[in-house]
Amino acid sequence: MTTIKTTCRHCGDVELRPADLALELDPTEESGSYRFNCPICGAEQRRPANARVVNVLLATGVAYEVKAPDLGPITVDEIDRFVYALDQEEDFWRQLASS
Ligand SMILES: [Zn+2]
Repeated sequence: MTTIKTTCRHCGDVELRPADLALELDPTEESGSYRFNCPICGAEQRRPANARVVNVLLATGVAYEVKAPDLGPITVDEIDRFVYALDQEEDFWRQLASS
């Protein structure tokens, strides 16, 4: 069975199974963070994950979720681009109706 070595700030080195971790990915970068509950003391912790760590964790079957970055309110420019994109899509309403 795959084990993932990491460190708990209270207990030092600990070994986790893929099911013990949850990966959070930032869609704007090739990195993210992962969180886990220490198997010894139970404390929930979070660690940054660079692209290499993300790849390793995904390869071992760790569950992940994509966290949308906080981009703030929608801007007029974004609405204009959205409307333009809708205008380019002739089948938009037909696709909507068929779903
Ligand atoms: Zn611990």
